[in-house]
Amino acid sequence: MLKPLRKTIEGPLNVKISLCQNQRSKRLKLAYNEHEDTFRLSAPYHIANFDIQSFLKRCQPWIQKQLDKPKKLIPILGHGDIIPILGKDYVINYKTDLKKSMLFIDNRIEITGKPSSFSGILEVGLRDLIQKILYQRCFVMSQTIGKTFKKITVKEIKSRWGSCSSKGNLNFSWRLVFAPNHVVDYLCAHEVCHLVEMNHSVRFWALVEVLEPNYKHAQKWLKENGKSLMMLQFS
Ligand SMILES: [Zn+2]
Repeated sequence: MLKPLRKTIEGPLNVKISLCQNQRSKRLKLAYNEHEDTFRLSAPYHIANFDIQSFLKRCQPWIQKQLDKPKKLIPILGHGDIIPILGKDYVINYKTDLKKSMLFIDNRIEITGKPSSFSGILEVGLRDLIQKILYQRCFVMSQTIGKTFKKITVKEIKSRWGSCSSKGNLNFSWRLVFAPNHVVDYLCAHEVCHLVEMNHSVRFWALVEVLEPNYKHAQKWLKENGKSLMMLQFS
């Protein structure tokens, strides 16, 4: 296997494209990374420069389309950056210490530990926090509608915010911790209502409305902001 050839070339509209030619590539494929705002072209190992250029020329309208998209660059959050937690902004404050801890002090979230484990401590702390909150809220809501759930799990799920299994287990994305309280309440109501209606029927939404009258407001918020919460990373 020959080593892949990598270089940066100039494409249409003056964009820089990182070209990677490798033996496994059977055809030309251009991709755009929205978060890094970069273009990457993979190409077969033995391909004429002319073919690359004519391919890129054909891609020009597509490249233009990518450039016109509103940019949604997601920063990697570290010391001194602000994270939203349940509707309030906190400044991340990493401190080197032998003891591992996570504390909320005024508008700061203070993480102590080894520098290499700061982001891990923060994530575990936030997962624990949202797990407790979700449990409390789902417990109260399920009592209101006379149902019980088995257990609540928070995980890294990037495709959805929550789910309810036929066995009565509720699952949520831990990233809900970055959403405001009314959004957390809506998602609890949503999953708790699935304990009664395993569907999204008119009856289901009527029940959601009983538990969370402003749920449409939360749905709108998730539509506008949800994707960026799913991407949030810590350094
Ligand atoms: Zn649902």
